[in-house]
Amino acid sequence: MQSFVVMQGQTYQEEKELGIIWSLQQDSSGKERHSRLRMIEVNEGDRLFHYVKGNIVAISVAKTGCQIAGKPSTMPNHEHTDDNGYLVELDYHELEVPVNVRSKFEEILPLLPIKYSPFQADANGNQGYLYPCNEELSIKLLEIIGDLNIYRVDEEQLELAIGTVLRTERNTFVPMITETEGELKTKIRLGQKKFRAGLIPLWNHKCVLCEIELPVLLRASYSKPWKDSTDVEKVDPHNGVLLCCNHDALYKNGFIAFDGQGRLHISSQIPEEDYEKYSIHPKMKIARNAENKPYFKWHKRNLFIE
Ligand SMILES: [Zn+2]
Repeated sequence: MQSFVVMQGQTYQEEKELGIIWSLQQDSSGKERHSRLRMIEVNEGDRLFHYVKGNIVAISVAKTGCQIAGKPSTMPNHEHTDDNGYLVELDYHELEVPVNVRSKFEEILPLLPIKYSPFQADANGNQGYLYPCNEELSIKLLEIIGDLNIYRVDEEQLELAIGTVLRTERNTFVPMITETEGELKTKIRLGQKKFRAGLIPLWNHKCVLCEIELPVLLRASYSKPWKDSTDVEKVDPHNGVLLCCNHDALYKNGFIAFDGQGRLHISSQIPEEDYEKYSIHPKMKIARNAENKPYFKWHKRNLFIE
């Protein structure tokens, strides 16, 4: 199961009524863009978060994969009647309480990927139509949706009789949310277990910088984080390095990095007189494999604080 964020704006209402999302294959400049082309990647069972004017207003489950189809004739401006669009059929679950992205942005921002993020750093939505939504971001959105919609209604239930319509909706909504969350968490747990098991022996079971060997202190530290990695990269044991928890925190937060040769780079944020305390010095070089190289470079380019 994959997740996506779809940016709908004005077309949301019609698309919801039809139980679809639809987009042109090409934008007005005639070029196929990544966010439209991504429609092809949608499969039956995938989850979509629907974003309209600053809010996540619905979550849906894809009933079909992507089909090539013209614009449905019931939609406005249906001059595009040729088979020049992408269409996916969906089960929409509209949220009683939408999620205002800006108000939750502190929680959302750290989980946004560097490439193809649905939201900008200022909390505004990006221009494209369909964006991938990594597992960590999906779980966060589901937690926020659950807090606002599931538990809130439960509290009200104490005082109000809930109508049949709402109860019927909840009969499918609540299990869908919890099932999705469970499935995503399992994917992360199994993926990271596999990553760790493959990575540890590559670094001889000790921190590459200080040689601490106590297993509870060791972390399989991603070079390209989970949220930015493809499914293959998420479990590739070369996408990271074995570090003790202190060095892991320095690496994850960009205070240290390795270059393509395995040489250590230390951020100017760390004063030289503290190097000893951190068990690091600028002449350190680790025995990297050739396969580590692209990942080390990605980390240094995108996360290292010069
Ligand atoms: Zn260490």
